[in-house]
Amino acid sequence: MDAQLLTLVDLQAFDARIAALEAEAARLPKQIDAIHAALVQAKKSLDALRTKADTTRKDLRSREKDLEVTTAKRAKADARLWEVKNNVEYSAVLAEIEAIKQEKAQGEEEILGLMELQERLAGEIREGESRFRAEEQRAQQDEVVVKKKLEAVETELAVVRAERDSRARELPRPLLTDYERILKARAGVAVARVTNTAICGGCRVSIRPQAIQELKAATTLMLCESCGRYLYWQESA
Ligand SMILES: [Zn+2]
Repeated sequence: MDAQLLTLVDLQAFDARIAALEAEAARLPKQIDAIHAALVQAKKSLDALRTKADTTRKDLRSREKDLEVTTAKRAKADARLWEVKNNVEYSAVLAEIEAIKQEKAQGEEEILGLMELQERLAGEIREGESRFRAEEQRAQQDEVVVKKKLEAVETELAVVRAERDSRARELPRPLLTDYERILKARAGVAVARVTNTAICGGCRVSIRPQAIQELKAATTLMLCESCGRYLYWQESA
């Protein structure tokens, strides 16, 4: 194969590798962001549980105070039962006591419900906290793994870029400029392979038999008449 063509083929391989590494280097930080975001979300749901437990505690305290008031009201009504002057008053106090009884029963029921809720929330918080600790630990481990991967990608990228640049210097300036222009315009592929199927590996358009003969001889650089990429011949395996 023509030396320049060989260099172009090599350059294309380097540039494909660089593009893949660059995509990886862009993707990995997003993975780290996602790890952090998941942790923030888990913390938020735990905080929401804590807030709910706090509200329940306050509700319970206020219901207990209400119950104390109702209990005191009941004691007063009971005492008044002995002071009434007639049946009408007696009936009125009895009715009042009945109403207070109902109020008390309702208050006690509410307190019971809140205590149950409080207990359930305490359990959920305990579970949530241990789950969060495990998630936090896993997130830290995951982050270390991803950061190491990113470091490795960046190291390899530096090596491949240096190799690529040194190979690129073997080409005459105008040819390199041309190659880079096509690379940019043609989605990162400037050099396309042609095999026995006789189609351009870049754009899949058929190559004329006459051009195939010239490609096989490989004495001059050839461009695809359809997509403008550099072509090289390689028998299919
Ligand atoms: Zn083509």
